[in-house]
Amino acid sequence: MRGSVRRLWLAASVEHAVLHEAASADPNETGGILLGYQTSAGRVTVVTDVRSAGPDARHSRFSFVPDYDHDEREAEEVARQSCGVVSYVGDWHTHPGATSATLSAKDRFTLKTIAKQSGGSLHEPVMLVVAGDWKRMLAAWQLIANVLHSRIVSIEIVRFDG
Ligand SMILES: [Zn+2]
Repeated sequence: MRGSVRRLWLAASVEHAVLHEAASADPNETGGILLGYQTSAGRVTVVTDVRSAGPDARHSRFSFVPDYDHDEREAEEVARQSCGVVSYVGDWHTHPGATSATLSAKDRFTLKTIAKQSGGSLHEPVMLVVAGDWKRMLAAWQLIANVLHSRIVSIEIVRFDG
């Protein structure tokens, strides 16, 4: 095995919430923020909680623009309530009707922007994509920070009861 395997541990409650939101928004895109923590220097991301899109988010068939102020407030509130244990680890969004949960060029740019805008607190953010309509597929991606260059890789999803 080359390097270290990256995993996203996904709480069942989070997956249920995301799938429910995806169905509610159909045929438009929706999304939100992922909350949890990272261990083993970013190799393991545990997603314990999720938030849906804020009231000012914009949804259309092929785009989703988050309500950034809402997302920031939600993330701050969760971090405060958990004394910093649980925090923002990345985003999730849907690709309705898509046959695979791959990242668009815009998604890749967004993932890099998340890392930059974190001010060093989140070097390796994750992105969860929900593709499809009646049958949905989930895929997780992560920005891997490197001294020379960063890259985006697909990471394994491990489900747990939570
Ligand atoms: Zn996307």
